[in-house]
Amino acid sequence: MSEFDVIRRHFQWSAPAEGLRLGIGDDAALVAPSPGQELAIAVDTLVAGVHFPADTPPAAIGHKALAVNLSDLAAMGAVPRWFTLALTLPQADPDWLAAFAGGLRTLAGASNIALIGGDTTRGPLCVSVQVIGEVPAGQALRRDRARAGDRILVSGHLGDAALALALDISADDLEPDRRTLRGRLDRPLPRLALGQALRGLATAAIDISDGLLADLGHILTASGLGAGLEVDRLPASPAFRAQSGGWPGDPRDLQLAGGDDYELLCCLPATRLDEARARARALGLGLTEIGALVSRPGLRCVDGAGRPYRTGRRGWDHFGDVDGA
Ligand code: ADP
Ligand code: MG
Repeated sequence: MSEFDVIRRHFQWSAPAEGLRLGIGDDAALVAPSPGQELAIAVDTLVAGVHFPADTPPAAIGHKALAVNLSDLAAMGAVPRWFTLALTLPQADPDWLAAFAGGLRTLAGASNIALIGGDTTRGPLCVSVQVIGEVPAGQALRRDRARAGDRILVSGHLGDAALALALDISADDLEPDRRTLRGRLDRPLPRLALGQALRGLATAAIDISDGLLADLGHILTASGLGAGLEVDRLPASPAFRAQSGGWPGDPRDLQLAGGDDYELLCCLPATRLDEARARARALGLGLTEIGALVSRPGLRCVDGAGRPYRTGRRGWDHFGDVDGA
């Protein structure tokens, strides 16, 4: 198959999309942004063996490559519009490509985002997706607008994907809880509707891709603040609770520093918590309060009894003074 056959057969599916003036087939795509909107643009690359295990099914790779980017749009409160795909492949295996494109296309359809171009090259497997979204001018959820006193909330559950990696759960494991955990690693669901629902309510938001501590750390740095976290409040899924005993470490460390969660972390004034929770509930999602922002820099973690909590995970030192005060 030539490069052009690959593109035509597997990636030229999009129906005419709103705002798309010229799609796949020319030197560049042409899009017309909607009046009154700002463009939100993000790119993320998945490298085989680094960002997904070698046994990840190709449909899941297609899904995840787009999902991690949509998660960035979600964290900005943006609406997905168009995306491009830069694909590097060791060979043009038609079965692999069909499954990969299927996973990509299903999530693209469900998220109402159109594939408008890309690049196809030969080399070690690597998938790079760039997304373009729209957000009403001035309303994006940024990292640098949090305020001291804001509460810190997270959507869904934390630690599932990290536990799947820690337990080395294979893609064909049939035990239901273990399947659920592996599914959370392979097929994260970007919290797009929640991000949009938090516009006008949250002062700041970020998606949790590198781990709660690292990503909260970005908000603290950008907003010039510190935070207190209560580690026993971190939301854990039933599958996580059932399986985390099989890992020798403290399960809370996976929730704090594991990463690959693709949940949203948001900061909100206490007076807006009920409204935010109601909007999340209407979307079938939980929002759990896990701590608060303070003006003193640094990140202090305590357990349910108020004792300082120190994670055994590396990476902690990135996150400022940790003294439990
Ligand atoms: P150029 O040589 O101008 O870079 P290419 O030959 O790389 O063009 O691509 C031809 C057309 O196909 C372009 O419109 C490009 O955006 C599109 N394209 C290439 N690879 C992909 C892909 N993997 N997915 C979607 N569109 C692609
Ligand atoms: Mg090209």
